Amino acid sequence: MADSVAAPTSPGKAEEFKSHIHPDWCPGCGDFGVLNSLQKACADLGLDRKEVVVVSGIGCSSNLPGFFSSYGMHTLHGRAVAVAQGVKLANPDLHVIVTGGDGDGYGIGLGHFVHAMRRNITLTYIVMNNQIYGLTTGQASPTTDLGTQTKSTPEGDIENPINPISLALVSGATFVSRAFSGDPNHMTEVMKRAISHKGFSLVDCFSPCVTYNKVNTYQWFRQRVYRLEDAKHDASDMTAALARSLEEPVKIPIGVFLEKKGVPTYEDLDHSIQKHGPAVKLPLSLSAEEKKALLQSFL
Ligand code: SF4
Repeated sequence: MADSVAAPTSPGKAEEFKSHIHPDWCPGCGDFGVLNSLQKACADLGLDRKEVVVVSGIGCSSNLPGFFSSYGMHTLHGRAVAVAQGVKLANPDLHVIVTGGDGDGYGIGLGHFVHAMRRNITLTYIVMNNQIYGLTTGQASPTTDLGTQTKSTPEGDIENPINPISLALVSGATFVSRAFSGDPNHMTEVMKRAISHKGFSLVDCFSPCVTYNKVNTYQWFRQRVYRLEDAKHDASDMTAALARSLEEPVKIPIGVFLEKKGVPTYEDLDHSIQKHGPAVKLPLSLSAEEKKALLQSFL
């Protein structure tokens, strides 16, 4: 088993974001650190639980909304970002946070990921990237390193991994970041900036799967990660951000690669929202009888 994840640094208000359901993740799973950091980030930002919606797909990490006390939706495999965009457009006042894994988001959900970024719709996408399919017991995922032996690649993975940071940068995301479960305080600070950002924000979190990934362990990351803040990286410089994103796997930067402020968001530009207001504020035009009949038609 890998080193344990640091205890949550979230006294007081962070407790409000803990649900009564105890996470069923394996002891030592990196997802604990992500959950704790998210709870602390929301508490530190002074968010009201009723203003937050956490949307997920399918996978170990996608169980997170059940462990987080706010509004939440556990949707279909790879479809969390699509559903989250609908939530945001229906009610732009909400803080919409998407949580899931690398298989869910960078595999089956890759199309939604890219399109949401080019739209620059305001939501925060937290990807627990463990470079393996954990829930289905250890197959190669889109971020598995070349040559890694898994259940589905017994002679080593022959597919090049996706680089989610580079992909996000060239796809139009206006906030692109990375964090590591073994550095939870840093992760909290990155999440706070991501959630506060207007536009699409990505937090790619290295979240080791201690059960099925014996390569990319806590120790493996600790030997490679460094903080971009310590390297005096300029997060307004796209060219520098792209260069940093291509450094791995020799050195792996964590922190904020890119932060572009003042870029119009999808909800700013959406004609229907600008003309009529968001759907959640529009009056329902059905009478009581019509609503009843409509409901009955679904029963
Ligand atoms: Fe975490 Fe891996 Fe266990 Fe899933 S299988 S809960 S990803 S350690």
